[in-house]
Amino acid sequence: MSPAGWEAVIGLEVHCELLTATKLFCGCRNAFGDEPNTNVCPVCLGLPGSLPVLNERAVEFAMRIGTALNCEIRPSVFHRKNYFYPDMPKDYQISQYDEPINVDGWLELPDSTRVGIVRAHIEEDTGKTTHVGGGGRIHDAAHALVDYNRAGVPLVEIVSAPDIRSADQARLYAAELRAILVASGASDGRMEEGSMRVDANVSVRRYGSDEMGTRCEVKNLNSLRSLGRAIEHEIGRQVAVVESGGAVAQQTRHWDEAKGVTVALRSKEEAFDYRYFPEPDLVPLAPDRSFRQRAVAGMGPMPAERRRRLVALLAGEVSASGLDQVATVVELDLDGLVAAAIEAGIGPALALARTANEAAADAEGTRHLDPGAYVKWLRMENDGILSATQAKAVLAELLDRGGDPAEIAAAKGFEAMAEDSLVAVVGEVVTRSPAEWERYCQGDEKLAQFFIGQVMKATRGKASGKAVVAELKRLSAGA
Ligand code: ADP
Ligand code: MG
Ligand code: ZN
Repeated sequence: MSPAGWEAVIGLEVHCELLTATKLFCGCRNAFGDEPNTNVCPVCLGLPGSLPVLNERAVEFAMRIGTALNCEIRPSVFHRKNYFYPDMPKDYQISQYDEPINVDGWLELPDSTRVGIVRAHIEEDTGKTTHVGGGGRIHDAAHALVDYNRAGVPLVEIVSAPDIRSADQARLYAAELRAILVASGASDGRMEEGSMRVDANVSVRRYGSDEMGTRCEVKNLNSLRSLGRAIEHEIGRQVAVVESGGAVAQQTRHWDEAKGVTVALRSKEEAFDYRYFPEPDLVPLAPDRSFRQRAVAGMGPMPAERRRRLVALLAGEVSASGLDQVATVVELDLDGLVAAAIEAGIGPALALARTANEAAADAEGTRHLDPGAYVKWLRMENDGILSATQAKAVLAELLDRGGDPAEIAAAKGFEAMAEDSLVAVVGEVVTRSPAEWERYCQGDEKLAQFFIGQVMKATRGKASGKAVVAELKRLSAGA
């Protein structure tokens, strides 16, 4: 939340590395984590006489991203962005400047607000410098190491309009964008490996004003959590500056994760500092219709559409928390499993809740499960063969070692409680809590949870919640 009377204005610039086999302008491998300076050649080292050749697959991925973000895909031109820094041995970076491939799109957040996309252009990544000593910062470092494996890796930079109004919304935007990138197949969206990197432009203004304040750009945001924290801090800092009579200076700032503050890095560079000019070694890019169609042909539906489909499948069984669960399973790419379960007759609420909670805890593992085994697992709880607690234990083992859910349950000695002993336990619990029972019988359904809890305690988690509810209903109908 912004301080009272103030509104934050935020625009995000997101760099994402594309999942091509090779770099943007040469045949070097595009891979994370290889031995430093092994994926290099004269082109990406900028040796004299070398010439760039554009990677067709990178253009396809860029068009996928543009399509997924509802952009207009246009003929585009590569420019040289000149600067002198050891992370780029050519002393310039090939990027797109005033004629980018994708313009004027939008991204829809799970709550249906739309954030404008100004552009999503192609450029090459820089090498990676590591400062050794002095806490990893350039000022006090003893020396620097440089790895050119990343130099020339294809990127798409996605620039949002300044439509974001809070740190929370910025996180939602970044999460949604990541899900879109993954769904489009263009990027793996891994922030921890630097394949998705977010810079946040932040300014503040008095609430109700429609003028734009002076912005700062915050860098070094390595997770959604630091994105949120950094923006929160930056909003507070700027409001304090203005309220104490000062003015925000336009700066590039660095997020210090350990101290929880942003610190000034440099005053903002201007476009003219880079001496942009059209790249003379590459022709303008004008993908024709059939190339564009081929690029997007294999692309499945995007997260917003998948959320809509899942909600439709849930047929009215979604509450507000259910909508969060829908967003979670789609973001984790587990919505196909929920759909398969519902189609196989599993209760929609159970299928959604278990997937959003239990399965999501190991989304990677769950995605690799055989859908048949997953549905079979859900069915055992759905039909009251396993209690919720037992079902969790079975899933843990299923994810760990694979196998057949029924066999795992049998090996663990999980058998459904015999019906007569369950009836007896429910009867006891009801007799022990007459006031609660009275309210339940008068229609206060919330108390079902209370009784389920009591029965679980008495049976050490062996009873099926569903069977308990059925017995409660039977008893209250007769009461
Ligand atoms: P540059 O070329 O200097 O990076 P852009 O105009 O392309 O600047 O904007 C970069 C980002 O900054 C965009 O995401 C945009 O939405 C955001 N932005 C621009 N003006 C403001 C502002 N006053 N406050 C917050 N964000 C802003
Ligand atoms: Mg920028
Ligand atoms: Zn190379």
